[in-house]
Amino acid sequence: MAVRARVKPCHFCNQPAPVLYRVKYEEEGDWVFTCPDCWQKISQDNPFYVYGGTWKAEKPKKS
Ligand SMILES: [Zn+2]
Repeated sequence: MAVRARVKPCHFCNQPAPVLYRVKYEEEGDWVFTCPDCWQKISQDNPFYVYGGTWKAEKPKKS
């Protein structure tokens, strides 16, 4: 299993995105990656929402 994905899928909509936010959205939940669209939904009125950083796909190297 040598999957070297440059993009991660969103935890909620399962769509890959070049930029994802690392968040917790449950009190004892794990870190998940969410796209900006879902991030707005799950962060609103969520007392358990924790922001853990932004993940960006690596830019392809050009030599
Ligand atoms: Zn999403």
